[in-house]
Amino acid sequence: MRPHRTAVAVASLSLLLTTAIGLAFPLVVRFLMDAAFVTRSLENLNSIAIGLLILFAIKGVFNFLEVYLLGATGERVIADLRTRLFSKLLDLSPGFFTERSSGELTSRLTSDCSTLQAVLSHQVAELFRQVLYLVGGLTLLAALHPQLMVTTAAVAPLVVLIALSFGRFLRRKSTEVQDRIADANAVAEEALSQIPIVQSFVRERWEADRYGSRIQASLRAALSRAWARGLFFGVLAFVAFGGIVIVLWQGGRLVLAGQITAGELVSFLLYAVQVAAAITALASLWGAYQQAQGAARRVFDLLDEEPEIADPPSPVLVPEAAIPEIEFRDVWFRYGPDEPWALQGVQARLRPGEVVALVGPSGAGKSTLASLLLRFWDPTRGVIAWSTRDIREVALGDLRGAIGLVPQEPTLFSGTIRENIAYGRSGATAAEIEQAARAAHADEFIERLPEGFDTLVGERGVRLSGGQRQRLAIARVVLKEPRILILDEATSSLDTESERLVEEALASLMAGRTTLIIAHRLRTVQRADRLLVLDGGRVVEEGPHDELLLRDGLYARLYRGQLIFEPAV
Ligand code: ADP
Repeated sequence: MRPHRTAVAVASLSLLLTTAIGLAFPLVVRFLMDAAFVTRSLENLNSIAIGLLILFAIKGVFNFLEVYLLGATGERVIADLRTRLFSKLLDLSPGFFTERSSGELTSRLTSDCSTLQAVLSHQVAELFRQVLYLVGGLTLLAALHPQLMVTTAAVAPLVVLIALSFGRFLRRKSTEVQDRIADANAVAEEALSQIPIVQSFVRERWEADRYGSRIQASLRAALSRAWARGLFFGVLAFVAFGGIVIVLWQGGRLVLAGQITAGELVSFLLYAVQVAAAITALASLWGAYQQAQGAARRVFDLLDEEPEIADPPSPVLVPEAAIPEIEFRDVWFRYGPDEPWALQGVQARLRPGEVVALVGPSGAGKSTLASLLLRFWDPTRGVIAWSTRDIREVALGDLRGAIGLVPQEPTLFSGTIRENIAYGRSGATAAEIEQAARAAHADEFIERLPEGFDTLVGERGVRLSGGQRQRLAIARVVLKEPRILILDEATSSLDTESERLVEEALASLMAGRTTLIIAHRLRTVQRADRLLVLDGGRVVEEGPHDELLLRDGLYARLYRGQLIFEPAV
């Protein structure tokens, strides 16, 4: 909140003034009552009433200032927090995301941030106001009549005791409610993002039940929280207002004995009500505070999360233009300390301009090897060298900026085709985008679309065919002009025409770059300069296709059994 200190200072001042006026009110009422009952002077009555009106007008202005300024500050702080949280999430490593669902993370961005917003724009101010009312009211009561004050003060510790004991219970309940809601969000997000799968397996009712049971769990937690809150407030209200009855009873006896005036009694009563109301309000704020603590913990835990893969403190500069030589030096990798080794001592070299195909049975470690090069993960042991430097010494942005990734199942962002291609390089001109589309053989289908490059594609590009999506993904990488390419070949075959276009697009993309292909097509391996045959995380064979066939090892067996290839189109 530091950047907003002026607003907070003005708001705090306003809060002080409005509370002071609120505290002065019973005193003025006392004079008003005494003017009516004791001195019976109409003139006094009029001027006091007018005075009160003016006082409340002033209070209104400060109320406005306080509520507006704190509200606005709360909104600004939370907008800033959400933005920071989101950009923090984007920096975290893939390992972090495999442990958490995106539904849970959106829940942090939305509902937890909203809880914090309520605290900042409203509840903190309310807390101060009620504390002032409590302390001010008790002080004035003490000053005006110590006997009555003693009664009121006797109730206070009781209330504090109740609040503390319930508070811990309420916090536990609140955290549980939020966690259950995050669980339910995770289910909803997953089902909605994979709606074709859900519907094709006729799993709508099953998903609805799954969501329903999570919601039921959150409802159960919320109901038990509601029950606890109800009990809490019931007991509290009785204790607080029971105290008022005692004050009134005692005050009435003092009036009967002629020790105080009716006006004094009314002002006592008003102070006592103020104090009681402050106690109840503080108790409710205590509950809200517990709830906010849970939300704050979850938000700040995320903000404090350190990405496992980070920039080196002083990155080395890699020459911009040169195509580097990549070397895997005895690379061992496992996804976690308890996981089996996914790569076991991989030794491999990608010479500048070379096309190297990774082949091997499923689970052999091909994707893992490719993702290590992108530093989605770091090797557990061993080094990946980029022109003799460890890639961990290179700035992440430089490293990933030099690598182009064409995924197996290209997904598009919602937006236009132009925006989707331009994702490859910010600041690309329209001409560059169109040129990239031509290089990827995407131009002819784009031009046939009703709005050409400005055609909107659905959230995941559902309105385009698989081959068209692949060519857009290729155009995106063409625009990026990477020095190293990682191609994860689609396992599903396209129709012959699309296949040919995609293949040509890839050929033009690969020209003049080092390419690492996770290969599934016979034609690809035949054309590759070299194949690395992986099995169980080890490179078991290496060499060109023809040579490996002659060797009659694993590759030849896989090839003859057609275990790794799609039928050639
Ligand atoms: P390929 O691409 O050759 O099919 P992968 O590189 O995907 O093989 O997988 C290699 C091994 O690592 C497999 O045993 C797989 O189960 C495991 N693996 C892959 N991804 C993860 C992950 N995120 N967490 C844990 N294990 C993984």
